[in-house]
Amino acid sequence: MGENTKIEWCDHSWSPWRGCTKVSPGCANCYAETLSKRFPVVFGQWGKGKPRVKAKNWNDPVKWNRTNKDGFTVSDPPITVFPSLCDWLDEEVPIEWLAEFLRLVHDTPNLTWLLLTKRPENWHSRLVDVRLRLAHMAIAEADNAKKHKALNAWLELWRSGDSPPSNVWVGTSVEDQTRADERIPAMLEIPATGRFLSVEPLLGQVDLNRWLLAEHGRRQIGAPPGISWVICGGESGHGARPCNVEWVRSLVRQCKSAGVATFVKQLGASPVIVPQGYDPIDGTLPRPHPLFSVTHTKGGDPDEWPEDLRVREFPQRFGKEASRATA
Ligand code: SF4
Repeated sequence: MGENTKIEWCDHSWSPWRGCTKVSPGCANCYAETLSKRFPVVFGQWGKGKPRVKAKNWNDPVKWNRTNKDGFTVSDPPITVFPSLCDWLDEEVPIEWLAEFLRLVHDTPNLTWLLLTKRPENWHSRLVDVRLRLAHMAIAEADNAKKHKALNAWLELWRSGDSPPSNVWVGTSVEDQTRADERIPAMLEIPATGRFLSVEPLLGQVDLNRWLLAEHGRRQIGAPPGISWVICGGESGHGARPCNVEWVRSLVRQCKSAGVATFVKQLGASPVIVPQGYDPIDGTLPRPHPLFSVTHTKGGDPDEWPEDLRVREFPQRFGKEASRATA
């Protein structure tokens, strides 16, 4: 559990700005938007053309970066940071903000940034725009020219794939098969030292085999991994859609067969079973009926789950303790 986050799979959540636009069914009950409805000045607004709000506490990651460096030996696990209240590749965010955020990522090499997006297809154009902006800034601000040029060179190494940042893991969210088919290939185009998937909120059966099974081949030839970590979970919060426990079970099995770390975050507020023999015509569930009684509001207490789903693994590189109840 993080020091300042309730998200179990990272150490800190910190967002450079708040506000976004919904792009797919997984966004329907976006919890960051729920917060924004109550406090729009702090949490930004949702929708096209609506203002995003820049964070004020930009020094926090710098502080965590120092703590990690000074407080632990190099072999200790890195501190992971996840921007949870925005999409870092949101095309409506001023390009200067993204440049500033990437400068922060560059300046905090002791952190591991978990950069999740539902817009992996934007990566190339956003990076090009940031680099253009930095080139202009290097001309306009003579005093800072060296700094802007250094960041630009770092981004070029990332863009070309010659040296993706070692402190960045790139991830994409896929709530169903359609989004998996669209976003995973786009995410795999982004050069990265580590990649992960967030399969949450799980809205249907998701088959990841075509990507996960390739991991075996990659390992055999010593190639860098394509996808090293899969986080999954059902939906929680007001209006949460039901999650068929079999969808979670299937992901756990797929990851296990491919030797990819899995983290089951929660079963959601409404875990259900689908009667045997049920033949979905349009992918919708039958009238949900509880599989078992979960008292945790998000279905987030592993003690309440079937034993084989109690899997909370981290990628080896994070050096964190994993738990897998099954062999
Ligand atoms: S992309 Fe993420 S932050 Fe943006 S609306 Fe969708 S769920 Fe919310």
